[in-house]
Amino acid sequence: MAKCEVRGNDYDKSFELIAAGARHIFDSFECAIQAIAPVCEHCKCRVIGHGTEVAGVMAACSRQGAAVVPQGGNTGLVGASVPRNGEVLVSLRRLAAIGEVDEAIGQVTVGAGVTLAALQDAARAAGQDAALDFGARDSCTVGGVVACDAGGARALRHGTARAHVAGLEAVLADGSIVSRLAGLTKDNAGYNLPQLLVGSEGTLGNITRVRWKLAPLLAARVAALVPLQTAREAADLLRALRADAPSLESCDFFLDEGLELVLEHQQRESPIKDRSPFYVLAECAAQSDPTEELAAALEDAGIDDALIADDTASRRGLWTLREGHTDAINAAGVPHKLDIGVPLRELDRFIDAVPGAVEQAGAERVILFGHLGDGNVHVNVLGADPDDERPDEAVLELAIKCGGTISAEHGVGVAKAAYLERARGPAELAAMRAIKRALDPQNLLNPGAVLAVTREP
Ligand SMILES: Cc1cc2nc3c(=O)[nH]c(=O)nc-3n(C[C@H](O)[C@H](O)[C@H](O)COP(=O)(O)OP(=O)(O)OC[C@H]3O[C@@H](n4cnc5c(N)ncnc54)[C@H](O)[C@@H]3O)c2cc1C
Repeated sequence: MAKCEVRGNDYDKSFELIAAGARHIFDSFECAIQAIAPVCEHCKCRVIGHGTEVAGVMAACSRQGAAVVPQGGNTGLVGASVPRNGEVLVSLRRLAAIGEVDEAIGQVTVGAGVTLAALQDAARAAGQDAALDFGARDSCTVGGVVACDAGGARALRHGTARAHVAGLEAVLADGSIVSRLAGLTKDNAGYNLPQLLVGSEGTLGNITRVRWKLAPLLAARVAALVPLQTAREAADLLRALRADAPSLESCDFFLDEGLELVLEHQQRESPIKDRSPFYVLAECAAQSDPTEELAAALEDAGIDDALIADDTASRRGLWTLREGHTDAINAAGVPHKLDIGVPLRELDRFIDAVPGAVEQAGAERVILFGHLGDGNVHVNVLGADPDDERPDEAVLELAIKCGGTISAEHGVGVAKAAYLERARGPAELAAMRAIKRALDPQNLLNPGAVLAVTREP
């Protein structure tokens, strides 16, 4: 590999050097090199500048006709956060400033490179709650979270990232900056460009700052693990909890096969004596102890064998059963990971049909878990060749047949771009392509991600 060259911020000059054979051009900050070098070693991309110079980089790329891949924490699993075809990698991680929390309105402006965990800490320090959480919190960035419209278990009550975006600042394909950071709850003057960028996976703009809506911090929490027979029973339980436990915050599920794998991996005893095919893990949060409210709602729903965890340690103990699935599955083999969503009324049909569908497609077994509240199922297919796309296709087709979506969390990326038209239909895809052409006529921003339109290297 060619030696890295460290240059200042003359991006057009950097392109000349690249044309003359240099592979890596960095800006002059040492931290930038440290942050980016491992990615370059891995993917052999070309890198010029990043961070605070996003507008300058983008303007130069536009003049040169060079494509870019915006990158945050690089935790996404659909292949869209790394260059694939010699694109310029624009890392937003150094945009890590956290503004003052506006406690009256419950908002804060943060740089796109702030990690989700840092946002959560800043909110908590001000007595507020970022109200969004998932396993990659220490590495993923707010820009990436917004670009993927990430959700997680708490989306049942607080919505996905979209619901938290009161505004944002972004650098468009031509280097121009759009900024809507006032955080106005009511602002219907024209199209809502910030919301258009939510979930656009780096294909419409580089998000540089986000105005994030917070929620009141609710410290009193209780969780319950409920053994059930079927997904239909779980849907009935969710209906009852939504009606009778307004403090309900999350409602996840897993199956006994997954629980067995987790218990083996964590080398622990099952906290549940009488095992069941299906488990729901529900959590309530309120200003004052919600235990009675949850217990009464469970009783009204005819549940008398739930495990209740009303202190932090025992709640964590229950959540590690659910969150431990990823590690346990990875230890069992190299899974094909798909995160689909189906309407709740179709969940039992999907869960019943998916093992047969993946077996027919040549795989051995499937482990399912997910977020009951939003019908989001993490499908982990084991015993298939890593390059064999048949099981993925079978799962995605089944999700579409059940009226669902091919992606509920990680996004479309490049991995699922070929399936988007089947999921959304030709009219919606044509509208998406028209939006992309209008904002990025040269197809410079993350080409090939979301919409399977690539460009010459
Ligand atoms: C262990 C684990 C658990 C997870 N759990 C959940 C979950 O429960 N719920 C859920 O919804 N998701 C979950 N995810 C997926 C998660 O949503 C994404 O990994 C995360 O949001 C991506 O953030 P990032 O900063 O790492 O972005 P990256 O991985 O760097 O990028 C992801 C995409 O966003 C684009 N992008 C990144 N930053 C910007 C920016 N500033 N401007 C424009 N485009 C940008 C990239 O081009 C790419 O297309 C999980 C991931 C992991 C690894």
